[in-house]
Amino acid sequence: MPAAMGEFELIQRYFTRPTPKAVLGVGDDCALLQPGAGMQMAISTDMLVAGRHFFPDVDPRTLGHKALAVNLSDLAACGARPLAFTLALALPEAHADWLQPFSEGLLALADAHSCELVGGDTTQGPLNICITVFGEVPAGPLGGTGTQALLRSGACPGDDIYVSGTLGDARLALEALQGNIALPADTLQAARRRLEQPTPRIALGLALRGIASAAADVSDGLLGDLGHILERSRTGATVDTSIAIQLIAAYAYLTGADGPFDAKTSATTALQCVLSGGDDYELVFTAAPSSRAAVQAASIASATPVTRIGQIESAPGLRLVDGHGAPVSNTFASFDHFGQQICSAPN
Ligand code: ADP
Ligand code: MG
Repeated sequence: MPAAMGEFELIQRYFTRPTPKAVLGVGDDCALLQPGAGMQMAISTDMLVAGRHFFPDVDPRTLGHKALAVNLSDLAACGARPLAFTLALALPEAHADWLQPFSEGLLALADAHSCELVGGDTTQGPLNICITVFGEVPAGPLGGTGTQALLRSGACPGDDIYVSGTLGDARLALEALQGNIALPADTLQAARRRLEQPTPRIALGLALRGIASAAADVSDGLLGDLGHILERSRTGATVDTSIAIQLIAAYAYLTGADGPFDAKTSATTALQCVLSGGDDYELVFTAAPSSRAAVQAASIASATPVTRIGQIESAPGLRLVDGHGAPVSNTFASFDHFGQQICSAPN
């Protein structure tokens, strides 16, 4: 890495930390992890590319947070407990005024989840952040799926569909930052926090083990990610849009007297953001109706609100209905990385 700071000095200064849980952390050719007795490793990788997943001039502290958050969100969706992660970083230049806040944002979230940075790779190049997280889940009893991890494939007809937290505000912030919609300062600030500093739902994922029949995290939009559950579970579903539309935190503003649009456009915008916005990092999960009390208990235990938005059905396909059960046409395609550019900035 030809820059003011050498590669090894950079790694030493910003990315080398005590790793009490790992057998071996940064500094050797491999890191060594020891999963607990009866535990399986849950592993997931996510890459963040400048201009595609974030604006190149985004605050490095929030970028550090988000890069790990999107990975922890995958562990949450599996009901896995975070153990460690690796960081592969391509940087145009090694500048302390970027690396310091980036590593602080990254490591603050890592500390909050006792997830240790155990290795990685560092190279000069266009800004690109690739993290692999390692978590653990208990193995399952013989004869079942072989794991207690929450899978996408376990939804059954009759199961309730839930989502955690709020949905759609990250997309609203993105539209505002791209100049497509004007938001009041406080609404924009709150929405922007959701876009730049998502909260991985680790505690909820852990609390849902043994309760949820299927789960996924909402990264590419609710309909798309619920669609993955339906596909893997070979089921269909109905979602009540009159409930879903209220999941956007900016709902009151969007649909209020001071809102930016007429009533119909406001409702369409809110629903579009909720159903296909993406970048939410909430959990969508299913559970049997007999587990409603257990789901509520998991929600309370993890201090994470959950909302029941629909039902799994045997008929394939995803149907949207209004509050009276009448069909709503489904024109809300999920965000597709190859079909649409998320940032207007050049790569
Ligand atoms: P190697 O050439 O054997 O792959 P490197 O010289 O690239 O190893 O890295 C030296 C050590 O620093 C390794 O333990 C590696 O895992 C770690 N490392 C490199 N980059 C990072 C990073 N960005 N964050 C954390 N650890 C890193
Ligand atoms: Mg290397």
